[in-house]
Amino acid sequence: MKNFFRNLGAKAQRWMSGRYGYDELSRALSTIALIFLLLACVPELKYLYVPALLLWIISLFRCYSRNLEKRRNERSAYLCVIGRIKGWFALKKRAWKDRKTHRYIRCKQCKAVLRVPKGKGKLQVTCNRCHNTIIIKT
Ligand SMILES: [Zn+2]
Repeated sequence: MKNFFRNLGAKAQRWMSGRYGYDELSRALSTIALIFLLLACVPELKYLYVPALLLWIISLFRCYSRNLEKRRNERSAYLCVIGRIKGWFALKKRAWKDRKTHRYIRCKQCKAVLRVPKGKGKLQVTCNRCHNTIIIKT
């Protein structure tokens, strides 16, 4: 019996070799699929099991895929999007925390976010990225 499980582990290891495996995108797809499946328990939302099943199949397909290059590209695109979303929330959190002492403005030329102190009157602000000067009343 012990030998059987040892052989099973070795066979599973051999079968998974060269395959992509589980990553952040697959985890996100599985999580969304699980949420959809839970929501599908509500009678009005029962058809959510279809997208849940599709997302779960896509997640499994990505896991067992041998096209590593394409899976890596998908992962990096996903991480780029998630990074932008997280950065936006981090900026909003920082702006909320500093709301009494600082103001956040966007550079009109390069769209960079600039942090300016509040209550200092008329200021000339230079963008760190493009060196554009902005005159702003704080
Ligand atoms: Zn700029």
